[in-house]
Amino acid sequence: MRKPIIAGNWKMFKLKGDALAFVEAVKNNVPAADKADSIVCAPFVFLDALVEATKGTNLGVAAQNMHFEEEGAFTGEIAPRMLADLGVNAVVIGHSERREMFNETDETVNKKVHAAFKHNLLPIVCVGESLEVRENGTTNDVVDAQTVKALAGLTAEQVAGTVIAYEPIWAIGTGKTATSEQANETCGYIRSVVAREYGQATADAVRIQYGGSVKPDNVVELMAQSDIDGALVGGASLDSESFLALLDAVK
Ligand code: PEP
Repeated sequence: MRKPIIAGNWKMFKLKGDALAFVEAVKNNVPAADKADSIVCAPFVFLDALVEATKGTNLGVAAQNMHFEEEGAFTGEIAPRMLADLGVNAVVIGHSERREMFNETDETVNKKVHAAFKHNLLPIVCVGESLEVRENGTTNDVVDAQTVKALAGLTAEQVAGTVIAYEPIWAIGTGKTATSEQANETCGYIRSVVAREYGQATADAVRIQYGGSVKPDNVVELMAQSDIDGALVGGASLDSESFLALLDAVK
């Protein structure tokens, strides 16, 4: 039985005061720790304050990116150990916006996943196809390659402890949700890739989220699918009431 995980990705939205007001409204109303994991993925500049504000609650805090090196001359970057030092729980790696706009590659995704494990950060690793790929029928080939490259060199135990977010790029921020059947089919395919590479027990354990225009009115149907273990949510995670409504689906 895999524990559902709902993560709100705030992207480059909110000021610190809005972020703190959000967690005040949400932190004591999230599902019990044995029921589901609830996480907000916040801009770097609020992480410290959010970790403090959520102490002793079941609301986790994630970064939206990080560098893979321990430290060094990388102006403007944030090291994994800096996140761990703050008490951040998780990190989103390889979001399609970073792959498309900030030169994130399969190779840097893989390095970041290894760095996350080194620093005890839960990696939420994003994979997903473009509209062109969906339409030319090669979605499985694309997510297969992304998944294999992202996880390369991890132990089966580490893979079992990874969260994979399947996010079709054409469904992110567009209002176009993959149908629950489409989402489940591709999440199931990703699970079969994990089984092929790391064995069935690992595939049965790894959690796979769907992301792409998830909202309170479609989350229940998506969460009811056999291979979908949670959601990575952008737009509908910005408002505290909407985020709580998403969490109701896994309470
Ligand atoms: C995302 O940011 O990962 C995402 C899925 O965004 P949205 O829910 O707005 O489509």
